Amino acid sequence: MAKKKPIDWRLVPAPESKDHVRIDPQYELFVGGKWQKPKSGTYFDTINPANEQRLARIAEAGEADVDAAVKAARKAYDTVWSRMPAAERAKYIYRIARLLQEKAREFAVIESMDGGKAIRESRDVDVPLAAAHFFYYAGWADKLNYAFPGKSVSPLGVAGQVIPWNFPLLMAAWKLAPALACGNTVVLKPAETTPLTALKLAELLQEAELPDGVVNVVTGAGATGAAVVDHPDVNKVAFTGSTGVGKLIQRATAGSGKKLTLELGGKAANIIFADAPIDQAVEGIINGIYFNQGHVCCAGSRLLVEESVHDEVVRKLKHRMRSLVVGDPLDKNTDIGAINSKEQLVTITKYLKAGVADGAELYQPACDLPAKGYWCRPTLFLDVAQSARIAEEEIFGPVLAVQTFRTVDEAIQKANNTPYGLSAGVWTDKGSKIFNLTSKLRAGVIWANTYNKFDPTSPFGGYKESGYGREGGVHGLGAYLNLN
Ligand code: NAD
Repeated sequence: MAKKKPIDWRLVPAPESKDHVRIDPQYELFVGGKWQKPKSGTYFDTINPANEQRLARIAEAGEADVDAAVKAARKAYDTVWSRMPAAERAKYIYRIARLLQEKAREFAVIESMDGGKAIRESRDVDVPLAAAHFFYYAGWADKLNYAFPGKSVSPLGVAGQVIPWNFPLLMAAWKLAPALACGNTVVLKPAETTPLTALKLAELLQEAELPDGVVNVVTGAGATGAAVVDHPDVNKVAFTGSTGVGKLIQRATAGSGKKLTLELGGKAANIIFADAPIDQAVEGIINGIYFNQGHVCCAGSRLLVEESVHDEVVRKLKHRMRSLVVGDPLDKNTDIGAINSKEQLVTITKYLKAGVADGAELYQPACDLPAKGYWCRPTLFLDVAQSARIAEEEIFGPVLAVQTFRTVDEAIQKANNTPYGLSAGVWTDKGSKIFNLTSKLRAGVIWANTYNKFDPTSPFGGYKESGYGREGGVHGLGAYLNLN
């Protein structure tokens, strides 16, 4: 009898079209409402990490360019933006939000091409949330006195904002929307590997007829960021990025009178109790670490599981991991896209080796990876010692370290045993346990029976080496205002 052919469960490719997308071969600096060539004449490439092909040449801003951008922001602040009635400012911000919604597909595709994230993420999370932040803060612009009763509120002046590569458009929105609503002008520095959506946003601001100089976009790497931070005429620095650079910025701004908020790294624990809805928790763990390639500051990169359900959770996790689709970020079926850059893949690979060297058991599902581009299979480490580097350091990749606990106190102690304090997750069917943990975990954001959920009304930020200050919600306004 002929042998039965095994069923091929692989999904048929469903790539999102690129036809509606315009990426210019070269982008200049957006200063004073105009596209300006960099004074140094230097450019760098931004590439698609899924195929290693160049997407565009990007201008590199030096100190003189940053100075011109800060001057343009100051002029716009003094002459237009701080004088404009708040309700008028709000109209511009609403217009930005609406235009972003209209162009959502183009922004989502460019975000996935430039950063490597799956289109499902950029389409369903990054772009809608970015628009939601502009809508939300537009509503606050003429109600600032009600946000801080009994205080007199005034803008700070020029804000220098430096953002990372993992949520390029969303981080720009997190920073721009409250700054503009409060009456500040901005010099924004996107990350060097993902500048495109910030530059497309600058085009959108022109279309929205935002007055010249209210937002300036300067592209470049760390030196450009440092020039923004160090500029003497910047009143406020908002930084999202690594803890190492955050510490440098804290030192650089100390004693300068500049207001500073830092959103830094994380090493979140997802805590699963035996009474948790296990299938739901497994989906939450997967969502918390593997989607967006683990390039998430608040990723649930440590799993603390109650010993009695360890085997069940791990079995179900492995089963679910085998169905994750790794590959083309533009394919709508893709769960895990490309690692953002070659450097980041080298970092992740270093941690995979360190995990094995420290005695943990590595599990990766067998899956085909594309020949070109930067890829990492979803990875699980079992039997991880508390002292292992993979349990302590931020990896920023799709790598989960599993540990067990027996008591609530042990779970709290292990979860807090990290220099970071950005986020955590708790899975249990007991409300009392949730409230007990939320008061004892030193993390800025704690999700209960869910993970990685965001809303513009909700403040976000960290404890300890995860930084200080809050973005989002009413708290996010306070960072851009003088309150007397
Ligand atoms: P990074 O610190 O290397 O770079 C962030 C930004 O700072 C980039 O634009 C970079 O060009 C710029 N920069 C680099 N050196 C600088 C310097 N000396 N002065 C001023 N600017 C400088 O971080 P990254 O690798 O782009 O991003 C990943 C990190 O960001 C992770 O640690 C992650 O946890 C963190 N992150 C935190 C949050 C949060 O809200 N807490 C959100 C997203 C990312």
